[in-house]
Amino acid sequence: MDSSVLCTETLRVDGCIKSANKKRKLSRDVESDIESLYKALPRLAKTFRIIDKIGEGTFSSVYLGEARMRDGSRDLFALKHLIPTSHPTRIAAELQCLTVVGGRENVMGVEYCFRKEDHVVIVMPYMEHQAIVDIISSLSFEEVRLYIYHLLKALRHIHQFGIIHRDIKPNNFLYNRKAKTFALVDFGLAQGTADTQLELLKVVRQKPSQPKAGSSTERQDKAPPKPPSTTTASHQSTAHSPPSSSSSPTTSSAVRKALIKKTRSITTTAGASTSRSARHTKDLMGIRKAPRPVFSERNLNSCTLAPSITKQANTSELVKRVKPGDLSNRRSTSARGGPATVRPQKPQRTVHQPLTCTCFHTDRVCNVCLARKQQVAPRAGTPGFRAPEVLTKCPHQGTAIDMWSAGVVLLSLLSGRYPFFKASDDLIALAQIMTIRGSRETVRAAKSFGKAVLCSRQLPRLDLRELCETLRGRRPSPDDEVTPVRQSLDAKAREETPRHAQERGKDGVSETVSPLPKRQDQTPGKKASSGVDSTGLGDERGWDGVPDEAYDLLDQLLDLNPTSRITAAQALQHPLFKDL
Ligand code: ADP
Ligand code: MG
Ligand code: ZN
Repeated sequence: MDSSVLCTETLRVDGCIKSANKKRKLSRDVESDIESLYKALPRLAKTFRIIDKIGEGTFSSVYLGEARMRDGSRDLFALKHLIPTSHPTRIAAELQCLTVVGGRENVMGVEYCFRKEDHVVIVMPYMEHQAIVDIISSLSFEEVRLYIYHLLKALRHIHQFGIIHRDIKPNNFLYNRKAKTFALVDFGLAQGTADTQLELLKVVRQKPSQPKAGSSTERQDKAPPKPPSTTTASHQSTAHSPPSSSSSPTTSSAVRKALIKKTRSITTTAGASTSRSARHTKDLMGIRKAPRPVFSERNLNSCTLAPSITKQANTSELVKRVKPGDLSNRRSTSARGGPATVRPQKPQRTVHQPLTCTCFHTDRVCNVCLARKQQVAPRAGTPGFRAPEVLTKCPHQGTAIDMWSAGVVLLSLLSGRYPFFKASDDLIALAQIMTIRGSRETVRAAKSFGKAVLCSRQLPRLDLRELCETLRGRRPSPDDEVTPVRQSLDAKAREETPRHAQERGKDGVSETVSPLPKRQDQTPGKKASSGVDSTGLGDERGWDGVPDEAYDLLDQLLDLNPTSRITAAQALQHPLFKDL
């Protein structure tokens, strides 16, 4: 008898772990997690040998599992175990995204789903992939072009169905470098557009998250309290059985049918639950290495703001309500959600206000402002990838938010820096964006979607080619002929104080506050200089000949205004991809 037969009823949990350990040395924690998973979902053990844990966040753990198929072959699967407190509608919505749009156009599909009580495991085909952080320094320009092309294909596909992914970032877009395959994963935060075709996304649509104090969350919106017992009690264990199991054969369409049936009952009661809480995800890929971002809070703060002022004050100085007189919806003083510094332009209610704001044009937030009611809008996602309309809590958000995130991914790949933006606070993130895209431009764009943003200093818009080439070390820094901006960026940012900056600026408005390269005029369409390779040698990875089209696409993805931002369908028609 083949001792490695996996799909027998006799395979015991303990034995399974032992045989897995023969191949891989698992940590004690992983071993015990696997054991707990087998216990929570005993049927898993009849089908899968769980080999390792390959991803972990607060809201899910992803395991690598092996199963023996009917034809005797062995297949690898990714088993995503959602935390038991996930809301049933959220789980069903994630599954519905995978079943309806997955399995094609670079979107991960789903094979099976197991459930017992509140434990749910989504089984997907395993896709071997490399973490971007591990390969970013060795990527060729051609690989970057292909990566973005395939990401755009996935986005066009999901957007056609009215799905907003909300968490586009390299950790959620798997890339197998050798096989040149790509897959968008993780619909755990997906929402529907106004005309979404996915029933469950209509339910999870427009339920904004509550602002959270000191939000340093990577993700939000995902874990409401315990699901209402009425919705889960009627669900039967194991929605579908894998191929070698003794139960009836299942396919994705069977999954779909079962899902629709199953989710129908969920949707009827799910509307009652609206509260959500923060989600802190640490993908294993992400925590294994902690590369330095181009922006961190530290260098940005010291770059644009006096080092002595507090973070709360910092943000208020950077972005603030324009009209100090609008005091709508006051409530007792609370720092919940941090300083109420970004507000809708129109007051929600006009009532007599006995108090006046005293913080306008100062570096602190007054109690009146702290007491303002926060506007509530969806803000799930990873801070460094959040679009300006998400950061400013614009209630109307569409598929354009994914396009912005794709732009941040492209910026990262072209500059060779990952992550590019890193901020735990939305306003710091917005300030970082302003440093690249210009403060006046950001203010103007925000106004177009109904937000008043005030920036205490004028930050010029940077030339994207110059920025990326400088960060790659292919261009000397304009500030320092010898040191590339790569080094000066962080170092200078720490040294530069607003006082220095203001001394050099006109009318108290600094133009040198950012240590990043200054704007350089570039004729559109013209092939710009290939950049100075600091080594004096050509670059076989193609970084010495990046076409203007790449930066033009980047510019259109990082359009601050969501209404004019390029769509995925348009981006695929971009001249950068004309031969694809
Ligand atoms: P989370 O919601 O916790 O972020 P994800 O669905 O993003 O969960 O999965 C976390 C990680 O697990 C991914 O970044 C990826 O590394 C890995 N992973 C997820 N799905 C697969 C898959 N089908 N094949 C291979 N690895 C996967
Ligand atoms: Mg993820
Ligand atoms: Zn105030």
